[in-house]
Amino acid sequence: TPAPLPAAEESAAPVTTVTVSSRDRLIFEDSDVTKGDLADYYAAVSGIMLPFAGNRPISLVRCPQGRSRACFFQKHDAGSFGDAVHKVPIREKDGSTEDYLYVDDADGLVACVQMGTIEFHGWGSSNATLEKPDRLVFDLDPDEGLDFGDTKTAAEHLKNQLAELGLVSFPMLSGGKGVHVVVPLTPQAEWPAVKDFADRFARALAGAEPERFVATMAKAKRKGRIFIDWLRNQRGATAVMPYSARARAGAPVAAPVSWSELRDIETAARWGVRDGAELIERSGSRGLEGWGVADQVLPDL
Ligand code: ATP
Ligand code: MN
Ligand code: MN
Repeated sequence: TPAPLPAAEESAAPVTTVTVSSRDRLIFEDSDVTKGDLADYYAAVSGIMLPFAGNRPISLVRCPQGRSRACFFQKHDAGSFGDAVHKVPIREKDGSTEDYLYVDDADGLVACVQMGTIEFHGWGSSNATLEKPDRLVFDLDPDEGLDFGDTKTAAEHLKNQLAELGLVSFPMLSGGKGVHVVVPLTPQAEWPAVKDFADRFARALAGAEPERFVATMAKAKRKGRIFIDWLRNQRGATAVMPYSARARAGAPVAAPVSWSELRDIETAARWGVRDGAELIERSGSRGLEGWGVADQVLPDL
């Protein structure tokens, strides 16, 4: 029998020293979640979130007045985040260089919340190997009218097709409507090759089952189908990070799950910002251990 899991370490030291102002401001009016609650959530899950979201370029969904008011998507540094939010210079298509943001600790996550952040999105590559993705993401977007069961079946289908290519994948509830199928990669191939693989793979699935899947952006073609959004897999694109909160009703979060658990889950918004303790406990459980981790390279398609 496997050894018991080590008990979570009790620590008296706070994981963050960043001051959060207006802690009582309601960010999720419908569910009574305040800015302080959100900061506490991110501080609590920082240990399980940062292995996925830390040390890579991030974009933030900021809603300073709460999720029901104006929100904006921020890719670049605009100053005023403080010392805990770091900058990584990245070459843009036009040859210029821009500073992108990254965090590497709980202070960084909380400093972003202090600046009105609800959601954390990230690149598929880390600062250490910016041109070589360490993660492929297939974002399954069901058309209105399809239910979560259809999305789960589709995710399983991707899992099986990837397995036939020798690739291990992991499901993540987006916290919104869909499921992301995540394929961890050894950073080896560069963006154009990875994008090409994602494109071919998605088109092959849609070609084999055109009634069920679509791999092109065109909204008109999505009717009653599941859009396999492979476009997360190009340089500069982002996907929502594991454990990020979502700026949606009910304060849901993006949550990694195991394939076997997924079968019994009925919504992509299964967990929320009130469930930090449960998410931490789950992360050490069999089935989730090793989630999102695998040393593998893409085959030729
Ligand atoms: P759902 O399951 O509800 O689809 P999702 O996170 O997959 O949730 P999508 O709309 O499918 O949401 O994906 C949008 C993706 O596009 C996000 O993951 C985000 O990283 C990226 N993105 C790029 N630009 C923006 C923007 N301006 N606003 C929001 N997201 C953006
Ligand atoms: Mn999606
Ligand atoms: Mn999408």
